[in-house]
Amino acid sequence: MPRRAAVPAPLETTAGTSARARGPQQALQRLGLRRPQDLVLHLPLRYEDYTRVTPLAQARDGDEVLVEGTVLHSEVHTRGRRQLVALLADESGARVTLRFFTFYPAQRRLLAPGARVRAFGELRGGWAGWSMVHPRLLAPEAPLPAGLTPVYPTTAGLPQAYLRAAIARALQRMTWEETIAPEALAELPGAQGRPWTLREALQLLHQPPAGTPVQALLDRSHPAWLRLKAEELLAQQLAQWQARQARAQLRAAPLQARPGGLPQRLLQVLPFALTAAQQRAWQDIAADLARPQPMHRLLQGDVGSGKTVVAALAAAVAIDAGWQCALMAPTELLAEQHFGKLVQWLQPLLQPLGREVVWLSGGHSGTQRRAALAAVADGRAALVVGTHAVIQQQVRFARLGLAIVDEQHRFGVAQRLALRGKRVEPQALEPHLLMMSATPIPRTLAMAALGDLDVSTLDELPPGRTPVVTKLLSHARRPQVIERIRQQVAQGRQAYWVCPLVDDSEALDLRAATATHAELQLALQGVCGPDGRPVQVGLLHARLPTADKRAIMGAFAAGQMAVLVATTVIEVGVDVPNASLMVIEHAERFGLSQLHQLRGRVGRGTQASVCVLLYSPAEDGRLNEAARQRLRAMVETHDGFEIAQRDLAIRGPGDYLGARQSGAPLLRFADLLVDEPLLAWAQRWAPRLWRDDPQRARQHVQRWLGACVDYLKA
Ligand code: ADP
Ligand code: MG
Repeated sequence: MPRRAAVPAPLETTAGTSARARGPQQALQRLGLRRPQDLVLHLPLRYEDYTRVTPLAQARDGDEVLVEGTVLHSEVHTRGRRQLVALLADESGARVTLRFFTFYPAQRRLLAPGARVRAFGELRGGWAGWSMVHPRLLAPEAPLPAGLTPVYPTTAGLPQAYLRAAIARALQRMTWEETIAPEALAELPGAQGRPWTLREALQLLHQPPAGTPVQALLDRSHPAWLRLKAEELLAQQLAQWQARQARAQLRAAPLQARPGGLPQRLLQVLPFALTAAQQRAWQDIAADLARPQPMHRLLQGDVGSGKTVVAALAAAVAIDAGWQCALMAPTELLAEQHFGKLVQWLQPLLQPLGREVVWLSGGHSGTQRRAALAAVADGRAALVVGTHAVIQQQVRFARLGLAIVDEQHRFGVAQRLALRGKRVEPQALEPHLLMMSATPIPRTLAMAALGDLDVSTLDELPPGRTPVVTKLLSHARRPQVIERIRQQVAQGRQAYWVCPLVDDSEALDLRAATATHAELQLALQGVCGPDGRPVQVGLLHARLPTADKRAIMGAFAAGQMAVLVATTVIEVGVDVPNASLMVIEHAERFGLSQLHQLRGRVGRGTQASVCVLLYSPAEDGRLNEAARQRLRAMVETHDGFEIAQRDLAIRGPGDYLGARQSGAPLLRFADLLVDEPLLAWAQRWAPRLWRDDPQRARQHVQRWLGACVDYLKA
């Protein structure tokens, strides 16, 4: 049997001719590997160790090893599943069975009895001794490589060998200058006293020498990995610092709260005193508004923490200073609730000034809309509330001084940019911007992604709230839950019943909600409230016309309706303090922050509230692990930040930042759950690096973020 120079596995031939190379070239493009820097940043998934031959006698079950031996016997089994089976014996006389369920004639020839061969694969021990399935076959006489062999993520038509060669070439040609100052690198956490150059780090990650601790490469704790993650995190922090600096150049009207002015009068008429957290946030905001640069602040606080009143105070400052304020909410329902509350609080104070709170929405009739637009244009509208209709191009403000965006993560960059287009000429005064979110952003994520934002946090709920008791019940207990609702509504309590999303299909959602509505109506037939009147069950879903939604919400809020069956349209912002029971059906299908938001709809009054999570295991009687974790988190904690942190752990940073991330994954290499020290380092150094060498800092940002920078600025 002739000896061959190399014995590549069948699919691993390096493309020889240019005609054949076109395929892999295209595959590279498909993976986005166009430029040399793309290639060098395409990092291995794992490594294979061909650096030494392992005697079978020393191997352990499950090891991935290279073994070498003589073929004792080989044949193609045709009974049962067709397979090529060869028995190999190594120096020590130990044997291993090699199995191939698909194979080429070349492999059969290589495994002819008497041939010497090397095989690489995972060893499995069984009653019949060692075996390997689909090992890679290698020529025994070739010199062993000095380092570990990288295995890259790849795609159809792109052989590993081709990819390896392309990346090795790119590495060789890499001419990257260092863009991080040595002083900064010297302080890099985890670098173990030896700052790696970027080149060294990448070299090691692609071609680790024998003996490199593979585990540290795989779990990304190796100093070479840290060096790379530091680059990425620093780029992000530099970009945010840059955005912050750019913003500092913008001008806005300084809005001062006068003593005895509108904000103070609003505080006097409120039926409650601000919590300490609200007071702090309010002070932050008042200080921002008084500056001649636009505010860029996020007000975050758990559901029910009382963000609206803080927003109202900010609006009052702007109005008092003779400016206009716009407040946008992501849904009509939510905007409507804000409107109701703001009219109640502010309209009596504005009336004497000849100014008003104006509602602006997409669903307006022509005349109403024209009247609203006229009031906005001539400045009579002191506060304009609505959905994103508020910032459509036709809406011309006389003097927009402050824009407030509720549930900011539900708005896109485009909308935020549109807001900025409402600048007041000729001095180009930008409106101040206050964003609000009830989805607390985990601290590390805020550091990483919102570095250009000031943040105020309401970390305290208004007093007198009773904590919500959360119960996890299997679907089988549904009749008892309905019975409980019967008892509660007879005592004048109110309940939400939330129906889940079914396969993203609105029609099916609706069917489920409608059926539940009918069922509850039937179950509550003849039940009367304390006022002696029969209780009503309402149904609220996304397809209803706005007027109907308004009527139903109004009836529920006024206590005329005892039970509100709803799809997730009630997710955000709905505020009915008398509601004390929340039932969430198929809770396993909801996301964690969604569940938390829903639960936040109850516990707003003084009665003890209960949130029932009904779950239905799959047909095999089990819940999937992520669902189980979500439900467990709901039972174990009420703290929105804790929930957010757990949510981050369960599903990664994906959904938090909305459109901010579109166009680019937030972070490719770093992991916010483990790389907090690196993040803190980047945050510390970014301002210094900008100051000391802006040229290099800019180069760094460009290299790592390129076109994505604009997203960070928005
Ligand atoms: P969220 O932060 O979820 O937007 P809201 O602004 O809707 O919360 O406030 C929730 C409820 O708490 C509202 O009914 C609001 O009037 C009430 N509230 C707000 N601040 C206080 C306070 N300091 N004391 C008592 N109740 C308050
Ligand atoms: Mg709110």
